[in-house]
Amino acid sequence: MKLYLSEITDTVKEKKIEDVPAGESFNYGATIKKSDVTATFYRAGETVSLLLKGGFEFETQCARCAADIAVETDASEEFYLFPEDKGDGVDYHYSGDHIDLAPFLNEFFVMNIPDPVFCDENCKGVCSICGIDLNDHDCNCESKISQVLEED
Ligand SMILES: [Zn+2]
Ligand SMILES: [Zn+2]
Repeated sequence: MKLYLSEITDTVKEKKIEDVPAGESFNYGATIKKSDVTATFYRAGETVSLLLKGGFEFETQCARCAADIAVETDASEEFYLFPEDKGDGVDYHYSGDHIDLAPFLNEFFVMNIPDPVFCDENCKGVCSICGIDLNDHDCNCESKISQVLEED
């Protein structure tokens, strides 16, 4: 989605971002399933303020047991954009007659998809020796190892 500079004035405006980057993967393979993000924008002199705010749902894998999980979250991120030749040392610039919102929406997701994500904060993960899912099963690998260590 594009914002034309001609529609960015000193009056605060809102636009719902309809595009969802379906199928694109973000941090650690997370994919966005749904997003309901609104762009709020205005101009103060040459500086454009862009606030992205809303909820989104992403799918990823638990960092401990690799189970597929879907996570819903809310976030907001504010960006300040300057004309290309202004604002030394600032991160965001605009040029031409419009601002493409796609890179800002991507950054919004990147900054708000946590890492690591767990299926449950008490997820026990998988055994690093036999690979069994310790949430569903028990194994005695650890006790075997400590026996070996004791025998040494
Ligand atoms: Zn897990
Ligand atoms: Zn094991």
